[in-house]
Amino acid sequence: MSYTMAKGNQRVDPDQLEEELKSPAGIVDLRSDTVTRPTAEMRRAMAGAEVGDDVYGEDPTVNRLERRAAEIFGKEAALFVPTGCMGNLIAIKTWTHHGDEVICEERSHVNLYELASMSAIAGCMPRVARGEDGILRWQEIEAVIRPKIYYDSQTALICLENTMNMWGGTVYPTSQVEEICDHAHAAGLKVHLDGARVFNAATALGEKVAHMTRKVDSVMFCLSKGLGAPVGSMIAGSKAFIEKGRVYRKMFGGGMRQAGVIAAAGLIALEKSPGRLHVDHENAKRLAEGIAEIPGLGIDPKKVRSNIVIFDCSKTGKTAVELCDALHPQGVWAQDTALHSVRMVTHCDVDRAGVERALVVLRDVVAKTQRKGA
Ligand SMILES: *Cc1c(COP(=O)(O)O)cnc(C)c1O
Repeated sequence: MSYTMAKGNQRVDPDQLEEELKSPAGIVDLRSDTVTRPTAEMRRAMAGAEVGDDVYGEDPTVNRLERRAAEIFGKEAALFVPTGCMGNLIAIKTWTHHGDEVICEERSHVNLYELASMSAIAGCMPRVARGEDGILRWQEIEAVIRPKIYYDSQTALICLENTMNMWGGTVYPTSQVEEICDHAHAAGLKVHLDGARVFNAATALGEKVAHMTRKVDSVMFCLSKGLGAPVGSMIAGSKAFIEKGRVYRKMFGGGMRQAGVIAAAGLIALEKSPGRLHVDHENAKRLAEGIAEIPGLGIDPKKVRSNIVIFDCSKTGKTAVELCDALHPQGVWAQDTALHSVRMVTHCDVDRAGVERALVVLRDVVAKTQRKGA
């Protein structure tokens, strides 16, 4: 078995923090918003962060970040975790028992990209439902809830994802989330929100995250994606949920010590970055509109509501891997997400000029493949 790792690093002279800390020159890296680099302001805050041992609860910067996150989400408490995957796993472990089922969308991150940790570690089975553009309605969830019979495994948790990554950053209407929560709670089920990009959803809706997540029992969000922090995610919920979550974080190896160094960047990401996400969304819209005009590529730009653009390349005669490989040497990096699906994600390290360049290169690469194929 072999794994591939991306390369592309950058050395930063700590005395030159004012210098632009962006992607390597000439590269338009649209693979994911995880590639965002911390700003000079974040790096300065990290260097000067007040720290302590967070396993003893003594890191003032981590404590500040957790209080602010709880406040912003209108929840009782929050917990800083190393990754979104660990945050989701902690929530799943906290809300379930071994042998339970977790309802999630077929293309959801917890189902496809978390190494089956809900089974391998939490002892749960994913039970998938399918929603239009990845957005579930109660009727699709209700259809896969297990009857309360002793010889059936039991449904314990519903896991929603907002925005819905693998469906092209689609967004849940808040009323639909609330309807699901009301029905779930009446049925004795908990609802966890994988809100890795919940601030992108908030930007698309023009709503506050506290309002959008009012009824969910727990929420996870990433500081490390569109918000631009180098590391870290958060979970938020009731005091009792976070108390249990803290235990599982330690059990899973996520008890961090002077984590204030990274929490300092997280605080800046949390306070400052949500206000600029609309720029990424406008860039994604432009990217999608440009892609729609390229013969051989398929996308409906009307469906692009946040920072994720997924298009079909089956009519180019190339697979998504082949197309991404052809773009790469031209300095445009994209990610294949299925045999004929390519994903491009806009973020703070790609500006409008980068988007225009990506379109020129994409048009050129696709035209060449079609001439060859003709
Ligand atoms: C990125 C992501 C996560 C968590 O990812 P980490 O890399 O572990 O931080 C969870 N859910 C979704 C939808 C994501 O896109």
